[in-house]
Amino acid sequence: MLRSLFISLSKSEWAKDQIMRWDFAWNMATRFVAGETLESAIEVVRTLNEKGINVTFDHLGEFTATPEEARKAAEDAIAMLDAIEEIDGRAGISIKLSQMGLLIDKSLCAEHLRMILQSAKTHGNFVRIDMEDATTVDDTLALYRQMRSEGFENVGVVLQSYLYRTEADMEVLLREAARVRLCKGAYKESPDVAYPKKADVDVNYDRLVDMMLEAATRHGAPRLSPDGRIPPLPAIATHDELRIANAKRVAEKLGLPKDALEFQMLYGIRRDLQEQLVAEGYPVRVYVPYGTQWYPYFMRRLAERPANVWFLLSNLLRE
Ligand SMILES: Cc1cc2nc3c(=O)[nH]c(=O)nc-3n(C[C@H](O)[C@H](O)[C@H](O)COP(=O)(O)OP(=O)(O)OC[C@H]3O[C@@H](n4cnc5c(N)ncnc54)[C@H](O)[C@@H]3O)c2cc1C
Repeated sequence: MLRSLFISLSKSEWAKDQIMRWDFAWNMATRFVAGETLESAIEVVRTLNEKGINVTFDHLGEFTATPEEARKAAEDAIAMLDAIEEIDGRAGISIKLSQMGLLIDKSLCAEHLRMILQSAKTHGNFVRIDMEDATTVDDTLALYRQMRSEGFENVGVVLQSYLYRTEADMEVLLREAARVRLCKGAYKESPDVAYPKKADVDVNYDRLVDMMLEAATRHGAPRLSPDGRIPPLPAIATHDELRIANAKRVAEKLGLPKDALEFQMLYGIRRDLQEQLVAEGYPVRVYVPYGTQWYPYFMRRLAERPANVWFLLSNLLRE
């Protein structure tokens, strides 16, 4: 119920205008967002790298409405790659195709994606294409495949365990030796396309992790690159300790080296667990978002955890 409300609010322009005016909303958002400028966020990348944590860096923004905005988003992504190079960071980037113009014109979006991948290739870096709501999955996978067929190997995708279709998508992507990040899924989806019960999403998550780890052995278990930029094939993106324990158990049983998989978490969530996994010798990558378009990302983080919502509401009442 609260989850649906906050995901709906993430799309409301009216709520956005109200909430972005509250100082305490921004104060709370800074738990999840590394700052509004590239300069402040790159410092966070540096600090995480010093702790042995790799990064995927994200300039917030989605559903751009004009070709000019989409072009600017692509240029910003390239600026992130340049900034990572400047600090010699152990970091790649994550992008959203709706930010790069997917909903305006697919060929324009492809052009922007190509520009970004070319720049990443020049820097020896990697681009992860985030997955958005279920209506975008086909186009996202098609553009990912188009880039692979054009010779870009430095690109990966994301699948979501809440979608019924994901098992079939996973099977094909693993055959193509795709670098896949698996998450549970952060959008509001209809029961026609997604498991409505969390328990089913979790069971599917474990099943999909098993498939990914097994495929990694088939593909020779490619490891994290020494500079921390090119991830291994399976990226296990969750803060759920049971899901992480399952992945570790299966990987061990298959005899996979620790750096043939990667755990990924969001900036500001379960820092203790991030550090624990690093101490155990697993590669950990943290998703570090920054920018002025923090509102929908922040709302999705609130939706994931009722305690976050109560904290926000109690501040509102106090004010
Ligand atoms: C690296 C990364 C990349 C992602 N990329 C995408 C993407 O491309 N597309 C997409 O749809 N989704 C993406 N997500 C979000 C994901 O789908 C989930 O919504 C999110 O990770 C919460 O689910 P969970 O797996 O942590 O499990 P949950 O069962 O939701 O949470 C497990 C535990 O994690 C902690 N936790 C989880 N969320 C929060 C929170 N917001 N605040 C405080 N504690 C929390 C709590 O302790 C909770 O008990 C990504 C997540 C990660 C980690």
